Amino acid sequence: MSFTCTNAFFGSVLFSFLFLGHSVALLSSPSPLSPGELIQPVAEGGEARMTETNPPKSAKKPRWTSLEIGLITIVSLLFIVIVALVILFATHKTDEICTTADCTQSASRLIENMDDSVNPCENFYQYACGGWLKKNIIPETSSRYSTFDILRDELDVVLKGVLERTVPGEATALTKAKTLYKSCTNESLIELRGGGPLLAMLPDVFEWPIAVDNWEATFGKTWRLEDAVAKLNEKYGTQVLVNFFVGTDDRDSNSHIIHFDQQTSLGLLSRDYYVCTGPYAEACRAYEQFMIDLAKLIRTDRALSINETQIKEEVTRVMELERDIANATDTPEDRNNPVLLYNKMELGDLNANFTLEVESRVFNWSYFTAKIMDTVNITVPDTEKVINYSPNYYRRLNLVLAKYTKRDLQNYMVWRFAMNMVVGLSRAYRDTRKAFRKALSGTTSEAAVWRQCALYVNNNMDNAVGRLYVEEAFSEKSKELMDEMIADIREVFISNLGDLTWMDAETKKSAEEKARAIRERIGYSDNIMNDEYLNNEYKDLSYSAEEYFENILQNLEYVQKKRLRKLRVKVNKEEWVTGAAVVNAFYSSSKNQIVFPAGILQPPFFSKGQSKSLNYGGIGMVIGHEITHGFDDNGRNYDKDGDLKDWWTAESTQRFLELSKCMVDQYANFSWDLANGLHLNGNNTLGENIADNGGIRQAYQAYKNYVSKHGEEPPLPGIDLSHDQLFFLNFAQVWCGTHRPEQAVNSIKVDVHSPGKFRVLGSLQNFPEFAKAFNCKKNSYMVPDNICRVW
Ligand SMILES: [Zn+2]
Repeated sequence: MSFTCTNAFFGSVLFSFLFLGHSVALLSSPSPLSPGELIQPVAEGGEARMTETNPPKSAKKPRWTSLEIGLITIVSLLFIVIVALVILFATHKTDEICTTADCTQSASRLIENMDDSVNPCENFYQYACGGWLKKNIIPETSSRYSTFDILRDELDVVLKGVLERTVPGEATALTKAKTLYKSCTNESLIELRGGGPLLAMLPDVFEWPIAVDNWEATFGKTWRLEDAVAKLNEKYGTQVLVNFFVGTDDRDSNSHIIHFDQQTSLGLLSRDYYVCTGPYAEACRAYEQFMIDLAKLIRTDRALSINETQIKEEVTRVMELERDIANATDTPEDRNNPVLLYNKMELGDLNANFTLEVESRVFNWSYFTAKIMDTVNITVPDTEKVINYSPNYYRRLNLVLAKYTKRDLQNYMVWRFAMNMVVGLSRAYRDTRKAFRKALSGTTSEAAVWRQCALYVNNNMDNAVGRLYVEEAFSEKSKELMDEMIADIREVFISNLGDLTWMDAETKKSAEEKARAIRERIGYSDNIMNDEYLNNEYKDLSYSAEEYFENILQNLEYVQKKRLRKLRVKVNKEEWVTGAAVVNAFYSSSKNQIVFPAGILQPPFFSKGQSKSLNYGGIGMVIGHEITHGFDDNGRNYDKDGDLKDWWTAESTQRFLELSKCMVDQYANFSWDLANGLHLNGNNTLGENIADNGGIRQAYQAYKNYVSKHGEEPPLPGIDLSHDQLFFLNFAQVWCGTHRPEQAVNSIKVDVHSPGKFRVLGSLQNFPEFAKAFNCKKNSYMVPDNICRVW
């Protein structure tokens, strides 16, 4: 929900992540091995010596007493028994239950979360998560609650600890993070400053007409759409109407290029909301009220008169304008294919072919681009190659602009900026969005200030915070084990290619090359442990502990300039796509990189001491998921070097599309109780579903390979399940969670992931090994007649 989230994606395709979310999280618990639990072999050395000391040395004394003979016989028999026992223990050690601290802990977690009164073959999600669902209630401050959210909440606690700790002599970058955090938690000062900091900077974006008198006379006369859009973009990170950004060139992933895209961020999150009826009615009403309340508050603080009727009229116009913009955008379904998005042209072509006109004044694309790029001293000629992701949007946008005045447009644009800025102001300002937030996410109160601040600082200084987190809570030992698991799972992905009957040999060969070329990133980047590197990264930032709002503005501008400057710089493919203090995992198609930040390398996903079945069902599945993203409906369009380039034969493409269609239909069939029975969007979730299905399959096979190499693992205490079953149980429990209805409706529209429940049901229905592990009969819900498989 934090406004920094708008920075996460440019373009539509650059990276995939495991789970939607704004926050991050915590600490791998120590995983000591308890040596005392293992069976100690009897001291065979001692016994052997005993028998050897007895052989007769002297021929003169060949006769033994009957006592001696008896003793030797007993000793020999004892020896045989002991050897037999040792062999028995060595080969049948799985009869022995594992009672290490790790095993005991995981067993108790698994038992608590599950509901074994449910038939696993009828509803495995309920079986795995029934206990969790009974035990947990969504906090008032959250719109959803899940295993992920709990880990993220715990991570916030770690961050609070390190950000509030003073360490003399530390790197200045770390001190800067702490100052930023301090400014954010300084509630009394923020309260004292009221709306002042916002009012002071509004003239810089040519003001908010609704909240000022005589706008036409003071700003309107010289106002140009190019200036307003450019200023909000380059200085305040707000992309409205014309979405301009510098990003990786899809077809030449070593270079950066200017992109023009449709407005991807809408006040009401997704275009569907703008019908304003049924489940969307309340969100629309609250959105308008938010705008009215903020306008009135600013006018009051400026001692201007308030004309309710006029404010309402203007707000209605803004709402109509945004509805028109929303309708002009391409739907997410229209944007699934990166090949169709890629329209390369010269900057000058935009002037010739994409006319935008406001009050008879034509938008000059060259002037607009120069306005933005001049701020980083880069000259862009009309012959500059640019990519236009949404030509149709721009054609439709011109028809929209014809209906509105400069004032309407300015009202709208500054609103979109201001609505995100109230979080840095006093209570009166923050409260203007309360009902709106409730309507969109269902939450009735805000998270604790320290939590919001830890999240904010982590989002804006991910490397500095990552350093603090890693030093506090990450075990180095994890890296090695992760390396092995990634190698195992990558091999399974590759060897499975051989079994696929739908793909021809030529395409398989390229797929194998791509799989082998995937770069892996585990834990954190070594750079962040280097003081000099860190200090240099943040050298242009200087925060004041007394000026939170100004710090936010500084961050917005800093991030934006950093990105714009990249235009003439080569892409650094080694760079991490995420910070370390993050409970999530990523795949970047342009870098062909998979990333597992320190934050996710903890139970239930992973621990050095927990059973391998749990590690493979947890992080193993995540590894397979991220690898498979390189081959989902989007990722498959990029080659091993991260370039948008077709490496498929026509026949294999055709078969891929057919097999994908099976999954589109399967998931579109799921109706979600928590979202008033709305069905999932099978198209928009396809990439994630393909990744989930591939991930679970590869992880399971890798686990079976592990067992055939190392033998069965000892059972867990108190839980009568085989390790094959535990693998699936731990996988499912990662997705235990529940949602408020408002958030559920919202997430069906905007989240590319299926809800956790269907991530479990969908992928296990498609995997026969699951049915085998639980002895599920044909025709049970988890064993449908028809199954889908791509990878
Ligand atoms: Zn994913």
